[in-house]
Amino acid sequence: MKSRRHFLQTIAAPLAVLPFLSKKDLEEITDNRSKRYDGPILRVAIMGLGSYGTRVADAMQSCTKAKLVGVISGTPSKITNWQAKYNIPEKNCYNYENFDNIKNNPDIDAVYIITPNSLHKPYAIRVAKAGKHVISEKPMALNAREGEEMVAACKKANVKLLVGYRMHFEPKTLEVIRMRKDGEFGKILFFQGLSGFRIGDPTQWRLNKQLAGGGSMMDIGIYSVNGARYMVGEEPVWVTAQETKTDPVKFKEGVDQTIQFQLGFPSGAVASCLSTYDMNGLDKFYLNGEKGFAEMQPSTGYGPIMGRTHKGELTQPHKTHQTVQMDEMSDIILTGKQPIVPIDGEEAVKDLKIMDAIFEACRTGKKITLEL
Ligand code: NAD
Repeated sequence: MKSRRHFLQTIAAPLAVLPFLSKKDLEEITDNRSKRYDGPILRVAIMGLGSYGTRVADAMQSCTKAKLVGVISGTPSKITNWQAKYNIPEKNCYNYENFDNIKNNPDIDAVYIITPNSLHKPYAIRVAKAGKHVISEKPMALNAREGEEMVAACKKANVKLLVGYRMHFEPKTLEVIRMRKDGEFGKILFFQGLSGFRIGDPTQWRLNKQLAGGGSMMDIGIYSVNGARYMVGEEPVWVTAQETKTDPVKFKEGVDQTIQFQLGFPSGAVASCLSTYDMNGLDKFYLNGEKGFAEMQPSTGYGPIMGRTHKGELTQPHKTHQTVQMDEMSDIILTGKQPIVPIDGEEAVKDLKIMDAIFEACRTGKKITLEL
């Protein structure tokens, strides 16, 4: 059954003949008419129909510039469910053995890889070879070397490589970035990023080095790594880091439980961050400058993001992150739009270089110099 909203969005009669509608309804119609979109649509196949893939698929139902048109999965029953739920034609359904054939499918522009981390690279390279644009979830790869291979493969195939950095489109985050660029915080001095949650099921892939490439840092600490860069607005030049492990049974060799890390920036600003799989609901950013501050908590969850600065509450309205991200990615891929904060493969390689250095610092106890 079509909703009232759908009716209001699609109604074609002139406003003058709709006296039974309220002022609010009329405003909504007018608003939707002015937003009508006739431009190109990015047609996306999702690979990996798990929990985040489902969240993205649901969010894409509200996109105007991107459309979910295909799936790639190793589980036939999931494909059938998704076909029914999202109206996906049989000809756009693939499994991990045959998805290279996507090259012969003119109805798919891009593949969004939402599998466990270690599969991003090999699948991205196959997608690129099939001539389709690649969208990869974070972390883009297990290390910077792998990330660079992905960038090179996509360049060679002349396809775009984007990463699901949804915070780069989040309105309150963008307002803090605008304030920082406009000098409203003055010289930036300090950033604090706290990223973590308490992980459950010890058998899940997130605790498997082979599939996850690490532990909390690859999964959730990456938000503080990436956030430190877009909040401070510089690239770090050194890293120090310390790992704490109290449960070596659950967090095996190469799977970090908790890491504290510090970053130094060329201006002299410093960052102090925590990545953990062992504390509940840790999701906070704090930025301090000579003239003011920004504080966000939650800072990177699915939202609404909440925050304030020295000037007061951040009031930008919440929008479903994945809907905005996919509409923006459509513009970036199809019309060459430049995002305010980059989301391309090179951007992701910078995060991977920092994480490589964080692991090295944990291993050696040394301060690691970075060149990004
Ligand atoms: P998930 O376990 O819910 O889903 C993973 C999917 O990959 C499943 O459908 C699984 O069947 C499939 N898969 C394919 N090959 C597999 C294999 N060899 N082993 C295990 N599973 C395999 O995980 P998720 O939470 O959806 O995470 C998937 C990716 O999305 C990860 O890279 C994660 O970091 C990322 N992610 C990003 C965000 C974000 O906010 N940007 C949020 C959650 C997850």
